[in-house]
Amino acid sequence: MKIIEDLHVHTKYSKDSKEEPINYVNLALERGLRVLGFSDHIDLDPADKDYGYFNFGLAYENYCRLKEEYGSKLEILFGSEITYQSFLNTVIEEEMQNKPYDYLIGSVHRLMGYTISGPHGVDYFKDKDEYTAYMIYFEELLKIIEVGSFDIVGHFDVIKRYGKDFYGEFKVSKYEPIIKEILKKVIDRGMIIEINTSSFRQGFFEPYPSRGIIELYAALGGKEIVLGSDAHSIKHFNMFLDNGVNLLNSIFDFEVVSYNMRKKVRVAKISELLREDAYG
Ligand SMILES: [Zn+2]
Ligand SMILES: [Zn+2]
Repeated sequence: MKIIEDLHVHTKYSKDSKEEPINYVNLALERGLRVLGFSDHIDLDPADKDYGYFNFGLAYENYCRLKEEYGSKLEILFGSEITYQSFLNTVIEEEMQNKPYDYLIGSVHRLMGYTISGPHGVDYFKDKDEYTAYMIYFEELLKIIEVGSFDIVGHFDVIKRYGKDFYGEFKVSKYEPIIKEILKKVIDRGMIIEINTSSFRQGFFEPYPSRGIIELYAALGGKEIVLGSDAHSIKHFNMFLDNGVNLLNSIFDFEVVSYNMRKKVRVAKISELLREDAYG
């Protein structure tokens, strides 16, 4: 199976990556990808140690240069992964206004002052039972959809990444009502969930989101997904996307989409990805 797209990629314009964007372009060309999307972090909470690191001007200038040079051989997109925090709604809206992003991923990384997606934020879990800790997360995730400023829901159940060390395996069934509510709204608003395969290198055997959530998404009428490896260096670029595609294939023949200036673009069906001749 060839990898067709990777829309979750961090470069040196994210605080937690040192990778040169050109290195991803070269690998994408070598591997025959059709779409490569940069999604550097934007962190707008002054209390966040990564606050203010992203430099739009520098990142966009570099992107334009790459697009000019390689754009005829590879679809290169300028996206962003925004750390969503509901109390920053207005700030986020203002930051995004009139900027030429192809797509915006909304991700919950921080809750109650803790970076729950990273190893330094585990104190978040210490004084909470599982249900409380996870429900606070899902309620925040629900708001991402309700504000309507995003195209893609990032790593839907990333709360399990460190949560599992405190409470054991994440069980979708315990949170099914709120997960369904989120998924219904995602579908109604024309948003998309990403299949984020960084989980496979973080000790899981399924992507973010878990298989059970992808099944609910399909059952509720969700037909579209985007693929992302959440690479912070080229060594993780596209990693385990094939696992993600195989899992998707066992659930539903989803449409893989990408974006152009915030508009969805059809890329291929999962079944087409599994047929090598689809690449011509
Ligand atoms: Zn993230
Ligand atoms: Zn990311």
